[in-house]
Amino acid sequence: MTGYKFKCKDIGMKCDFEVKAASSRDEAMQIATVHAKQAHKMDTVPSDVAAKISAAIKS
Ligand SMILES: [Zn+2]
Repeated sequence: MTGYKFKCKDIGMKCDFEVKAASSRDEAMQIATVHAKQAHKMDTVPSDVAAKISAAIKS
């Protein structure tokens, strides 16, 4: 079983959102970024948040 997972809770968000990407870390990152923009009202994801997301993605 391969895949990349990320939970918003992993970066301290009070949010039950979970990313499950089958193909790549980049895909997980992209899904998390879209979610952050839509659900957390981030027009752009700050680089420190992006770094946290990247570090929190588990394969
Ligand atoms: Zn979230």
